[in-house]
Amino acid sequence: MQVLHDAPLAPLTTFRLGGPAARLVTASTDAEVIAAVREADDSGTPLLVIGGGSNLVIGDKGFDGTALRIATRGVELRGTTLELAAGEVWTDAVARTVEAGLAGVECLAGIPGSAGATPIQNVGAYGQEVSSTITEVIAYDRRAGETVTLTNEECAFSYRHSRFKADPERYVVLRVRFELEAADGLSAPVKYAEAARALGVEPGDRVPLADARATVLKLRAGKGMVLDAEDHDTWSAGSFFTNPILTEEQFAAFRARVRERLGQDAEPPAYPAGEGRTKTSAAWLIDKAGFTKGYGTGPARISTKHTLALTNRGGATTEDLLALAREVVAGVREAFGVTLVNEPVTVGVGL
Ligand SMILES: Cc1cc2nc3c(=O)[nH]c(=O)nc-3n(C[C@H](O)[C@H](O)[C@H](O)COP(=O)(O)OP(=O)(O)OC[C@H]3O[C@@H](n4cnc5c(N)ncnc54)[C@H](O)[C@@H]3O)c2cc1C
Repeated sequence: MQVLHDAPLAPLTTFRLGGPAARLVTASTDAEVIAAVREADDSGTPLLVIGGGSNLVIGDKGFDGTALRIATRGVELRGTTLELAAGEVWTDAVARTVEAGLAGVECLAGIPGSAGATPIQNVGAYGQEVSSTITEVIAYDRRAGETVTLTNEECAFSYRHSRFKADPERYVVLRVRFELEAADGLSAPVKYAEAARALGVEPGDRVPLADARATVLKLRAGKGMVLDAEDHDTWSAGSFFTNPILTEEQFAAFRARVRERLGQDAEPPAYPAGEGRTKTSAAWLIDKAGFTKGYGTGPARISTKHTLALTNRGGATTEDLLALAREVVAGVREAFGVTLVNEPVTVGVGL
């Protein structure tokens, strides 16, 4: 276990933003993770768990407590069952499953961060979400003071949400188990229209696993959604806002606002999101409210490749980023009456 004091956190985040932690502990075994969590909890010290730092906005003042960096390793593949230690690099694990000819997570290639963080916001992209393949999450329960195994159902997964996100002070994920599918080297049915188009197939078709992964990586790279230290469009947390889910009444009011503003033929994006609910596109809202790609003049700007990513052009502070985020939220609300919600976890700050 490595312990540092007054340690900078910005280099541990993909935004490269935020002040130092009073204490930074790096744990490379489950026992070290548990010992560090217990020590913090027993002494009443605030705890911040960090994986790959790709979904974190840390305030400029930093974190006055123990930041615990999860650096555990372990990949076990038995038949179609995969178990990953929380600290494993997610996109590398996806590559391993594709090499092993197993389907289920191939469209989640290129998502930065750790395996242990994937259940937190039910990571998803291109028609797949980890909630479809996770069978169990092994976690340290800080309230009970013991290691527990949560079934998929107990994780209460929904769109970019889970039991872990709802109750962030309770669980530290140690391991995640997945059940994948052996489909003769083919992917799961391709659900996402854009990916199907790029692959030259119809939605619902299966394609060779390696093709699915390569196509997703290419589409993601075109949007600045694959980490590249040289490219400031990827100094981000990916999507900064979740796609709003509206009730029937809210959607009707929103549609009326869209037509008022953009013309009577204008039609906002709408996807079914469960009984009486419609999901619309945050990227579309941001763009139509006038915040186009590259928007901004300061060191924090909208990505030049994707309106949904707020980025650090180098030299930004967290306050610069939050000022931009607040401007976008206020602009979208004023234009369309919809309030965007941030996807990354904020530490010591809020929108
Ligand atoms: C370029 C880019 C593209 C992205 N694309 C996508 C995408 O397509 N889809 C998507 O869903 N997300 C995407 N993201 C967001 C991010 O990669 C995911 O949310 C990822 O799972 C975060 O993992 P992490 O290890 O970096 O978590 P961190 O940023 O380190 O932490 C995020 C949260 O999870 C908690 N946490 C981390 N590890 C643990 C653990 N072991 N136990 C308990 N809590 C933990 C942290 O305390 C924090 O609250 C993208 C980010 C970037 C930068």
